[in-house]
Amino acid sequence: MGKKTKVGKTRKDKFYQLAKETGLRSRAAFKLIQLNRKFGFLQQSQVCLDLCAAPGGWMQVAKQNMPVSSIVIGVDLFPIRPIAGCIGLVEDITTEKCRQSLTKELQSWKADVVLHDGAPNVGRNWLYDAYQQICLTLNALKLSTLFLRNGGWFVTKVFRSKDYNALLWVLKQLFKKVHATKPSASRKESAEIFVVCQGYLAPDHIDPRLLDSKYVFEELDLDAKKKSSLLHPEKQKRIKAEGYTAQDIALRNDLAATEFMKAENALAALQGIGSIRIDDERIAKHKKTTPEILECCKDLKLLGRKDIKGLMQWWKDVRELFVKKETPLVVGDGEEEKPKKPLTQAEIEDMEDAELQTQIDTIVEEEKKDLKRKRKKTLKTKAKLHEKMNLNMVIKGDDGPVEEMEHEIFDLKNINTSAELDDLLDVQPDFAVDETQPEQAKLPKYKYFDKDEGNINDDLNYDDDNEEEQSEASEDEDQINDKQGLGLSDDDDDEDNPKGKNKRKKRSENPLIKSNDFRDKNTKREQRVQLWYEKDVLQNIQSDDDEETYDLNNLAKEYKAKGVAVLGESTLKPDADETIQGKKAKRRARHEAAAKDSSSESSDSEDEANEDGEGEGEQTAAGANAKKVRLSENEMALGALLTRNKKTRRDLIDAAWNRYAFNDENVPVWFKLDEDEHMTKPTPVPKELTAEYQRKLQEVNVRPIKKVMEAKARKHRRATKRLAKAKKMAEKIMENNDATNHEKSKQLKKVYKKAQEKKKEVTYVVAKKQTAARRARRPAGVKGRYKVVDPREKKDKRSMDAKKRREKGGKGRKGKGRK
Ligand code: SAM
Repeated sequence: MGKKTKVGKTRKDKFYQLAKETGLRSRAAFKLIQLNRKFGFLQQSQVCLDLCAAPGGWMQVAKQNMPVSSIVIGVDLFPIRPIAGCIGLVEDITTEKCRQSLTKELQSWKADVVLHDGAPNVGRNWLYDAYQQICLTLNALKLSTLFLRNGGWFVTKVFRSKDYNALLWVLKQLFKKVHATKPSASRKESAEIFVVCQGYLAPDHIDPRLLDSKYVFEELDLDAKKKSSLLHPEKQKRIKAEGYTAQDIALRNDLAATEFMKAENALAALQGIGSIRIDDERIAKHKKTTPEILECCKDLKLLGRKDIKGLMQWWKDVRELFVKKETPLVVGDGEEEKPKKPLTQAEIEDMEDAELQTQIDTIVEEEKKDLKRKRKKTLKTKAKLHEKMNLNMVIKGDDGPVEEMEHEIFDLKNINTSAELDDLLDVQPDFAVDETQPEQAKLPKYKYFDKDEGNINDDLNYDDDNEEEQSEASEDEDQINDKQGLGLSDDDDDEDNPKGKNKRKKRSENPLIKSNDFRDKNTKREQRVQLWYEKDVLQNIQSDDDEETYDLNNLAKEYKAKGVAVLGESTLKPDADETIQGKKAKRRARHEAAAKDSSSESSDSEDEANEDGEGEGEQTAAGANAKKVRLSENEMALGALLTRNKKTRRDLIDAAWNRYAFNDENVPVWFKLDEDEHMTKPTPVPKELTAEYQRKLQEVNVRPIKKVMEAKARKHRRATKRLAKAKKMAEKIMENNDATNHEKSKQLKKVYKKAQEKKKEVTYVVAKKQTAARRARRPAGVKGRYKVVDPREKKDKRSMDAKKRREKGGKGRKGKGRK
């Protein structure tokens, strides 16, 4: 099993992912990919020179990541695998001939990036190989100085040997920044490291000695600074990582963590050690064994002063497990090897200083990290928000739903009277069951409406005088007013509606909440209305109503042109309509008047209360066989007259007793029909009232058209939104340089498919014998809408079709035969 990296993915997973993304398989290629992902030098380059390029993994990576028009030239001792758009040269990079060949290829061009992954034939002797490799790197650098443009990149592989620092020094003379890094694709056991040099300084003159391996690697005497003095930082500002010494280069030395802990002198114990191996559970699980310490343990040669100090602190913290506390701690150079020798005051102070310094360094470092993390988080959030806004996912100012913190039970607004206040303070349990009390009578499920007791309101509905309902209605109205921002709900119209007065007063005047507003009611109302009309949104609204009517008229015309009858259209011509509705209405009116007659005596008093009461389009008849009866405009007008007042009602009833009124029984049907047609007196209903009802009915009928329009508009708006979103996504996909054209087209197709409105598909499921009797359940594997059909249906249909065909086709076939 592969080892887990920090993010929890195994290395294998990571490489598999890389291979999938890039289509490349070589470890060398992965190294360059990782380097490029970290520094991004390939994206910025047009011309790339790959020294020691065979078999060509790096060249492929370069071509994949560089702009389409870029040039990649590779050089190697061996032929390079042909790669589309790349040039391969077979040359030794240390020779003059190679320089000439490159000059010939590049002409006056300069390279933006020079890559070098050269390694001589290794295996003879590690020391010798390492030296050869570093010399080859210096040669690559030499060649780069000839072809690299000012500000260009130089990326090279180096083996960490004793000459490594000398090479770094040379690189630092020629480049603005030098980064040494080891990508995870590089084997941990390998001594190779990658140096990425950024910003070539392109000096006019370079001292030839700087690029001469004999001079660079022999003149710089690194051995002189072999021993570090951690405890005297003032004497040596920076400890340099020295790489592997000649003795330990062939075999990297591991030191067991337990050995390290037992050592009397931490620094001495670390001398010549390549890594610390954690061999004890107690050490591994110790709280001071942080991931950073574990990382440091892996390769001591890479560590700087701070890391070494960290290791020493760790040694101090953890060694208690292995050594008794009384044992005096001895930390220092090899000279202080005698543990029994007591430390001088100066040394103790030095130690304390070093310790303090370490702690301060750690705190500062942590603070820095914290700040960096926070900044990163903020930037990420910003970027996300920006992206969302770009995709229209977030609308400025729309904060979404907000959690209501107020709990109703603690809301003083709900306590309006002293009785309610007493109720709140009542400590009696609310749900104590009193068995002696009779069970409360259940409310009936349906309540029949008694039309004689009710009134007809302005909206063509019968209304009960029930106070509660009225207040509910007025509450609704208030809510609407409030929603519109008028705020007229609290104290309006008390005079107009005395019945709701008490209830409203209760709501508006809370004895526990005192208002500081001393304006009188009318002024308040006027000011609110004025404020409402001053809103910006209402400034341009004037023509909205006209537009809507215009739209509706247009729509109605459209429908008519298609031959559809628009409901309510007939009522536009009152005179004509009266004759059409004619007989039926008159007959029913007479019927109605007679029926009313019987109950008139008892309900006279209530009639007077509703002067404005008017009829309803659809009236519910009382009784068990309640049936909806559609009244004509004329009938509704008649109803209104009947309920207007006592006098009109009496007049109407009197008028019903006329010379045309017969009560003959058992007359033939034809006689009855004839009578209905010719022997009826027109209803004494004023034309204006009928016209008024026609107008109202027309309004009601127009509403559905408006609803259709609104639904269409909603649908259109949704579709537009979806398309806009898809367009944005498509633009983003097109801008993505990393994806190939094929990938892009695939993504685009997906996006546009998603943007299209899906038709709800119905799956037909044939009912089976064994399940047909049971209650219908969703069949397994069927998603979305489905319909269960009888298997018989299909067979029946088939046989019917066949029969039809037989009946029809018999003649045809015969005919055919005769022909
Ligand atoms: N970067 C390559 C890739 O991704 O495929 C792999 C390079 S391989 C590790 C090292 C290469 O350095 C070998 O192909 C070897 O032939 C080449 N090499 C060694 N010495 C060389 C020299 N003096 N001139 C040119 N190439 C050299």
